[in-house]
Amino acid sequence: MDDKDIKDKNGKEENSSGKSKGAFDVDENGYDNVCYVCHRPSSTAGHMTTLGRGMYICDSCMKRATDMMSGLGIFDPTNTDNQGMPSGMKILRFGPGGFADDPKHKVKNAKKKEEKPADEEEIFNINNIPHPHIIKGKLDEYVIGQEHAKKVISVAVYNHYKRVINDMKNGEDGVEIEKSNMLMLGPTGCGKTYLVKTLAKILNVPLAITDATSLTEAGYIGDDIESVVSKLLAAADNDVERAEHGIIFIDEIDKIAKKKNTKSRDVSGESVQQGMLKLLEGAEVEVPVGASSKNAMVPTTTVNTKNILFICGGAFPDLTRIIKERLIKKSSMGFGAELKDRYDAEGDLFDRVTVEDIREFGMIPEFLGRLPVIFSLKGLTKEMLVKVLKEPKNAILKQYRKLFEMDEVLLEFEDEALEAIAEKAMEKDTGARALRAILEEYMLDIMYEIPKDNNIGKVTITRDYIMNNGIPMIQMRGVY
Ligand code: ADP
Repeated sequence: MDDKDIKDKNGKEENSSGKSKGAFDVDENGYDNVCYVCHRPSSTAGHMTTLGRGMYICDSCMKRATDMMSGLGIFDPTNTDNQGMPSGMKILRFGPGGFADDPKHKVKNAKKKEEKPADEEEIFNINNIPHPHIIKGKLDEYVIGQEHAKKVISVAVYNHYKRVINDMKNGEDGVEIEKSNMLMLGPTGCGKTYLVKTLAKILNVPLAITDATSLTEAGYIGDDIESVVSKLLAAADNDVERAEHGIIFIDEIDKIAKKKNTKSRDVSGESVQQGMLKLLEGAEVEVPVGASSKNAMVPTTTVNTKNILFICGGAFPDLTRIIKERLIKKSSMGFGAELKDRYDAEGDLFDRVTVEDIREFGMIPEFLGRLPVIFSLKGLTKEMLVKVLKEPKNAILKQYRKLFEMDEVLLEFEDEALEAIAEKAMEKDTGARALRAILEEYMLDIMYEIPKDNNIGKVTITRDYIMNNGIPMIQMRGVY
């Protein structure tokens, strides 16, 4: 039979692949039309759809194109409200609750939100912001102590998202709520980063963490300041809307304090603070999608930082001296030495910090003006460190126990052993950060040896073992 084409009994043409031919499968001369995308002829690719101007697309390329567009959030075949767009097309809407379409928020190259598993616990929903005591209750499950900080942050976050909603309603009554960006003070390893990470996790909002020391003004070597927004967009899976409600945590903020008595241009300090002002307040930032730096090859999108919550944290090591000096100066003359002793003994001078003190430290007033919520975290005591080891939902001990459970071995820690670990951590002066490293050191040998012997059923870590005076207590299965 000549080439391929025959007519079936219904009069439709059929090609050699057995596929029936439609109106756009062959041209007027009977030649196969070719898919504009994959270049396959209709005899191989099957049914064609016309794109006009003599161009055709096969069904599989058409499907791929629509899948890709719906993945980018610009094509929704289920949408019936198409506002004059071609059937199935829509402009992505910004904000929940039917906020008006805004061309500024048209998303270029942004991914559609990932479906959340049904069983994933979600307490945060922009239309249903959890009350501060609920947020704090959740934080309590993870963060030990820091009661004041947890309370402040819960209220500030609650207010922040109320502000976001008010903003979406375009501040109908004309009352604009001030942004509650935060400044967190506290020694290393007391849980600043952990608090913010936990907060973002329980609210299910994207979080970007960056180190202020790595930031420079645009044009200098290092990450330019806007790169933090790019990180946030990546954390939000390139979903601009999610990123715009996210949290940016800038750690080591004290390291960009203005240097005193410097005549040279201060690249890392004051000018970085200056550069951050617009971002903290709210600015439209052009950021690369799927890459950390802008270049001609990378597509970009615009993210508005107006509703992004900025939290800055730092240890501010010299700040206690400044607070102490102010307190002494304020008190009546003549008792300086006595007061100095009193304040030296007082551990939590950060509680008495004022904006003036932080200014004196080297943060510029405009910068501080954009961080209206200031609070401090306390250094962790030995008792708190023991609790950090065993109480949080994902406590390190629980993690080790789980690992041993998988080998059907029970792992116990004597209370005195936990105290010894906490004492060793205190010596390092890096707060809870030291705990994991210390435990790793002692658990390594055990984790290496135990799987060798299937008869071992229980291991108890003793104080002697931690103090290098003995070995852990090992019991065989069925003995304990
Ligand atoms: P920093 O204050 O220097 O940012 P981090 O938050 O990074 O300290 O703390 C380091 C680790 O120590 C955390 O990942 C967490 O596991 C633990 N940690 C610190 N503080 C606490 C705390 N108050 N409660 C529970 N875990 C804590």
